[in-house]
Amino acid sequence: MIDFQDRVAVVTGAGRGLGAAHARLLAARGAAVVVNDPGAATDGTGEESRPADDVAAEILAAGGAAVADHNSVATPDGGAAIVQTAIETFGRIDILVNNAGILRDKAFHNLEWENLDAVLDVHLRGAFYVTRPAFRVMREQAYGRIVMTSSNSGILGNFGQANYGAAKMGLVGFMNVLALEGARYDIKVNTIAPVARTRMTEDLLGPVVDKLDPEQVAPVVAYFCSEACEVSGDMWSVAGGSVSRFFVGLTPGWFQHPEREGMLSPDDVAAHIGDIRGETGYLVPASVQGEFEKLTPLLYS
Ligand code: NAD
Repeated sequence: MIDFQDRVAVVTGAGRGLGAAHARLLAARGAAVVVNDPGAATDGTGEESRPADDVAAEILAAGGAAVADHNSVATPDGGAAIVQTAIETFGRIDILVNNAGILRDKAFHNLEWENLDAVLDVHLRGAFYVTRPAFRVMREQAYGRIVMTSSNSGILGNFGQANYGAAKMGLVGFMNVLALEGARYDIKVNTIAPVARTRMTEDLLGPVVDKLDPEQVAPVVAYFCSEACEVSGDMWSVAGGSVSRFFVGLTPGWFQHPEREGMLSPDDVAAHIGDIRGETGYLVPASVQGEFEKLTPLLYS
C-alpha cells in the first residue's frame, strides 16, 4: 500500500478544489503537508487566510500533520517562502504539487497584457518559483517527486484561453526538461491534465459535472508523489476515475533525399501533406535523441 510516512509535501493552491483533495489524501496516507493558499478569487485577486487554515485544521483534526501557508506562488520570494515553510516546520521537502491556478479568460483579440501576465505569473512562472528551491533540496537529498498541473485547454486548445492554454502547455515543456535533469537524483516529474468539479469549472462542465469529483484526481497525484511511481516525464489525463496517458507522437512523415531527389520545396510539402500528417506507424520519442534516432538513418541512407 502506498504511504508517505516521513515524507513532507507542499501542495500549492491547496485551500480549495483539487489542491485540497491532494493535500487531504497525501496527509491521510502519512505525509506532513504544507497547505499553501493565499485565498485568491478565481481571477487571482484578493486574499483570505481561511481556505488554507481550514484545510490544515481539518487534516490536524483527522490526526494528520499539516501547516497552512499563505504566500503567493507568483513571485520568486513567495516561492522560496513556501518551500521554507516546509523546511522550518517539518525539516525537509520530498514532494511538490504545483496546483495553484487562476483564470482570466478572454477571446484573443481582446486579451489585455495584464491578463496575460497574471495567468503566466501564477501557472507558469509560479511553478518555476516554487520548484527551483524545492528542486535544489531534492537534488541534494537525491529524492523528490514533483507534479505539474496542466490542462486540456493547452494540450488540445480551448476557445478564449490563449493565456491559460499557453501557460499550461509551458508547464509540459518545463516538466520534460526537469524530468531529464532530475533523473540521476531520483527526482520524478510528471503532469496531470485533470477535469474536476471545482469553483473554476462547476458552471462549465454541463450535466457530467456531478460525476467529476476532485477526489477522483487526487489518487493519481498521490501515485506520482510516491516512491512506487515508475514514470517520469509523463502527462496523464485524469477525470472521474478515468486515467490515460497523453503523448507526443511523431509520424513517419515524408523524407525527400536531398542528393537523389532534390532539395525540399514548399510545393513538395504541399504535395505530401498526407504523408506528413498520416498517423499510421507513428513513433513516441522519449527525448530529443528519440527524434534523431528516426532522422539519422534517413539522412545517411
Ligand atoms: P480552484 O479555484 O478551486 O483552486 C485553485 C486554488 O489556487 C485556489 O484556492 C486559489 O486561492 C489558489 N491560488 C490562486 N492564486 C494563487 C497563488 N498566486 N499562489 C498560490 N495559490 C493560488 O480551482 P481548481 O479547479 O481546483 O484548480 C486547481 C488547478 O487545476 C489549477 O492549476 C487549474 O488550472 C487546474 N485545472 C483544473 C481543472 C478542473 O477541471 N478543475 C482542469 C484543468 C486544470
